[in-house]
Amino acid sequence: MARYTGPVCRICRTEQKKLMLKGDRCKSDRCAINKKRGAPGKDPKNRAAKPSDYRIQLREKQKLRRIYGMLEKQFRLFFERALRMSGITGENLFVLLEQRLDNVTYRLRFATSRSQARQLVLHGHVTVNGKPVNVPSYQVKSGDEIAIKDASKSFSVIKEALREYGKSGVLPWLELDPDAMKGKFNAVPRRSDITDLSDIKEQMIVEFYSK
Ligand code: SF4
Repeated sequence: MARYTGPVCRICRTEQKKLMLKGDRCKSDRCAINKKRGAPGKDPKNRAAKPSDYRIQLREKQKLRRIYGMLEKQFRLFFERALRMSGITGENLFVLLEQRLDNVTYRLRFATSRSQARQLVLHGHVTVNGKPVNVPSYQVKSGDEIAIKDASKSFSVIKEALREYGKSGVLPWLELDPDAMKGKFNAVPRRSDITDLSDIKEQMIVEFYSK
């Protein structure tokens, strides 16, 4: 399946939620959700009064998949892996998603969005424990050191992202040295730690895939 290449803000409008897919723009007045633009192609007057359970579950799954910028097939594989792990499947899914290298690169402020972080990884700008890794879905483990490759440290996109966002700090399970352009994944977070996505109802995603 091809990667979505249409207007990114349209995805947020469909979900009627800020999915933070465009970096700086998401925090500005130019955000389509801030402007209160409705779902594309829908007249609010014609909207069904009560969506079905299936539709609610589908939308929840789509939201999470799109936040992490994944194709359906890969997202499904992550879900199946979460299912095989001990513990609560929905929580396992979140933890696996947070361990993706593109996500950790974004969380460490080396990029302003997950899609930009994905490009940095794909183009070989990121190292894990000193070795270049160009696989966005690579699972980062506790204690791993994530850094920008020496040859890429002058890359203006990374410097600007760190300048803009590095000062606001990183999440508690991460550590960042902005001057050295390196960080550490100190521990695998729990679901309850991922507070910026606390409104996602992962149980609905489990129900969607359990049909
Ligand atoms: Fe979504 Fe960001 Fe576009 Fe706003 S600016 S609609 S949060 S992608």
